[in-house]
Amino acid sequence: MEIRKCGRVHYVASKLFAARGVSEQGFTTRHEGVSRPPYNSLNLGLSTLDSSHNVEGNRSILARAFGARVETLVTVTQVHGNDLLLLDQPNPDFSHFLKLECDGIVTNQPGIMVGICVADCAPVLLLDPVRRIAAALHAGWKGTVTGIAQKGVEAMVNLFDSRPRDILAAIGPTIGSCCYEVDEPVADAFRRSGQDFESFAEPAGNGKWRLDLAGANRQQLIRAGIAGENIEVSTLCVSCEKDLFFSYRRDKGETGRQMGFIMLNRQ
Ligand SMILES: [Zn+2]
Repeated sequence: MEIRKCGRVHYVASKLFAARGVSEQGFTTRHEGVSRPPYNSLNLGLSTLDSSHNVEGNRSILARAFGARVETLVTVTQVHGNDLLLLDQPNPDFSHFLKLECDGIVTNQPGIMVGICVADCAPVLLLDPVRRIAAALHAGWKGTVTGIAQKGVEAMVNLFDSRPRDILAAIGPTIGSCCYEVDEPVADAFRRSGQDFESFAEPAGNGKWRLDLAGANRQQLIRAGIAGENIEVSTLCVSCEKDLFFSYRRDKGETGRQMGFIMLNRQ
């Protein structure tokens, strides 16, 4: 991945996706928005206590940078589950999706920017450049336990006939294992889900574990049939990189949200 600039927006882009040229995509940083501390400055999360006027302004900055209208930037109310919103119609009314409780969006519609807001959780983007299908997924530890990344791949395969070998995945800046200690109930939830918890978590003493959330999602994508070389994982930890990213844990809940976004280009 690499940091790029488009319009005012500084973002981390997947080089793997960019090489295929069918989408605009990436993971925003906190720079060049209009929100004030502690939401400074490109806070894209409507669920925060930031002024909605500022958040709308920031969402416009993002959409416009990529030639989209803010009305076609689609986000949902994220609830740490694994339900997905399917957008397969042109020109739907997007505004009501804001209240829909989902943790991922899958679309075959060009010109619609789909986004997932995060501040520690893993933002996962999927792209099938052959069938031209895109997805944005929200994978915190709960979503990872319930298999949201796998569910995203299955939706592309079952609904749009994607072949897993064609699908590319990008896991954006996430809280790293350097800064993400979890306790026994989290470990138990992963083990009960059938995932190999010990392969992506290290003991930290006192019944705690250091969890590699991005690594857990990478493993899940491989189990869903995605080739390892088709998965790009950001090495940036959002908690360590205070200048670039919001982190809910680091900032004790008073912080903004960055966004993983993807938009299929019009042919
Ligand atoms: Zn860190």
